[in-house]
Amino acid sequence: MTTTPHSLIRLSAAEMAAKLRAGEITSVKLTQAHLDRITEVDGQINAFLHVSAEEALATAAEVDAIRTAGGDEAENLHPLAGVPIAIKDLIVTKGQPTTAGSKMLQGWMSPYDATVITKIRAAKLPILGKTNLDEFAMGSSTEHSAYGPTRNPWDTSRIPGGSGGGSAAAVAAFEAPLALGTDTGGSIRQPGAVTGTVGTKPTYGSVSRYGAIAMASSLDQIGPVTRTVEDAALLHELIAGHDPKDSTSLNEPVPAFAQAAADTDVAGLRIGVIKQLQGEGYQSGVLERFNESLQKLRQAGAEIVEVDCPSFDYALGAYYLIMPSEASSNLAKFDGVRYGTRVVPEDGSLTIERVMGATRAAGFGEEVKRRIILGTYALSAGYYDAYYGSAQKIRTLIQRDFDAAFEKADVLISPTAPTVAFPLGEKLDDPLAMYLNDVATIPANLAGVPGISVPGGLSEGLPVGIQFLAPVREDARIYRAGAALEKLLQEDAEPLWARIPDLEGAK
Ligand code: GLN
Repeated sequence: MTTTPHSLIRLSAAEMAAKLRAGEITSVKLTQAHLDRITEVDGQINAFLHVSAEEALATAAEVDAIRTAGGDEAENLHPLAGVPIAIKDLIVTKGQPTTAGSKMLQGWMSPYDATVITKIRAAKLPILGKTNLDEFAMGSSTEHSAYGPTRNPWDTSRIPGGSGGGSAAAVAAFEAPLALGTDTGGSIRQPGAVTGTVGTKPTYGSVSRYGAIAMASSLDQIGPVTRTVEDAALLHELIAGHDPKDSTSLNEPVPAFAQAAADTDVAGLRIGVIKQLQGEGYQSGVLERFNESLQKLRQAGAEIVEVDCPSFDYALGAYYLIMPSEASSNLAKFDGVRYGTRVVPEDGSLTIERVMGATRAAGFGEEVKRRIILGTYALSAGYYDAYYGSAQKIRTLIQRDFDAAFEKADVLISPTAPTVAFPLGEKLDDPLAMYLNDVATIPANLAGVPGISVPGGLSEGLPVGIQFLAPVREDARIYRAGAALEKLLQEDAEPLWARIPDLEGAK
């Protein structure tokens, strides 16, 4: 039987890798099939800001040549070698533009690779290109990109989540089997939830942040975006590990995540339902799917307990002080002097203050400016204690809530996002409504704990995500629980991604 490219792109990354190893397909054919898909459908999705066809095919050809030659080099290829990947355009890549979704970095080429990119190149995964995002990763819908919104492949009149909507939509639309995202407050997990894909935010420090353009350094983490839990585990293993270039990087061996994802026995696993992350504000369809998932896990032998995390009610408020404070400092470097866009004031005055002012006025979008102003205010002399100081105290209380919850439960569970994908434009003029999308994902960033979103069925024909959280350094547990739920839900239904409507005009 010959595998047509159409069925090829619908395999999981692990299945693609197995076919490559068995010599049933070549990486060039696999990579070309994804590039063709991008050509066919990305006009409707706008997941990609840059497609690097030539570079991807060159890497693919290199992998094929190594396999054809055989011997040690072929034996030692990384298990995912030859499987293509897309990269969120917040992660710097040598030889390809990096924009952060901002006019500020239009046309900017990084002189170096992020550590995760170095690892991906060493493992020889063809890089398909860079994916769209809310400007500097600030947003929950990818509508704040300076390069136009990304659309949700489930319904192109709806948002794909954010800020990593490009990576999630690319994976959901079969334009890439694997992608990288960054998660500061939910930007991997929430897009995963609303596009029916899998997304992991690793333990803070487990994946190097070197080369991820910083939004809020104490919260940012790079992580995998995939269609299956096993694929997320495989990609996580590839990108994790100690990096001396990131001072917050954990100096510990990388656990066997893929092995954890293969253990889908949840008998005796204590799963804590977070009292604060359900009920008011959550759509009834989302809660129905959530309760069904709990039921399935209970039937499979998991012990479901309720946990109380009272400080989570203040997580969103604390996040929207800490994140803008750190961002206001991190984004100070975009000044029209060091790199990126430079705008000369209209009257031609060339003082450094005027050039910086004109550059930042023209280069940053509205949401980025809103957060810089908010962060600068929160850090200002008279208000530091009242705002930033209080937010840091709440952060500590949230960490304590997690500690207490993990005494009673091995993993915690909640809906990933309170709603399914909403129509484009619906929340664009209402920042607070937009911020509420991350109410369930933000606590994990404030505490540094790992989290995963796995598809949990449909509501009104649109994907619902289920989130698992585990203690710091126990990422293996979210893979075990996530893979278990994935398997249980597939006992009586096709995987969610297999049910995605065909994109019109696509072959
Ligand atoms: N939506 C959140 C925000 O706008 C999360 C962003 C992120 O995780 N990068 O801050």
